Amino acid sequence: MTKIEYAKAQIEHLLANPTDRCVLWPYTKTQGGYGIITVRVGRKNSTSRCIHRMALEMKLGRPIPKNMDAAHSCRSRACYNPQHVSEKTRKENIADTLKDGTSRRYLGLQRNNTSKYRGVSYYRNLRKWVAHIAVNGQQRYLGVYDTAVEAAKVRDAVAREYWGHDCFQNFPEYVTKVA
Ligand SMILES: [Zn+2]
Repeated sequence: MTKIEYAKAQIEHLLANPTDRCVLWPYTKTQGGYGIITVRVGRKNSTSRCIHRMALEMKLGRPIPKNMDAAHSCRSRACYNPQHVSEKTRKENIADTLKDGTSRRYLGLQRNNTSKYRGVSYYRNLRKWVAHIAVNGQQRYLGVYDTAVEAAKVRDAVAREYWGHDCFQNFPEYVTKVA
């Protein structure tokens, strides 16, 4: 049995016996954490397939166009439970990921410019402002907003939760000091 056949059998099993839990690919993963299978093509070349993408294609019974993402609802990139992946545009996928604040990366999206506010960046692809905050060296995404001011206020509120009222605020005048 080849690796591809093995993976297909695993996915078929999951399609026949649906489960709610994440099913993590225990073998090779990409740097970003997606499960992959590498297949030799000829002597020197190899090609790799994402396991969660294979799972979605088998669920849908058709190939997914190259410009579409296989998006995880569970946000575990190594998961290949067909119930946890759906077909989304890159834009939808990014917006969802930013919205729930779990994005570990920008999914290849370029931050085009930083606003004058701390923790607020403009994303040209989304045509929106994204609020973010670095906590212990890790960026947390706080959502997507129409205006920089909205995003900055959200960032301020979250910063106060972490560091109290004396931390840097974009809008210090909004802080109600608690005696
Ligand atoms: Zn999952």
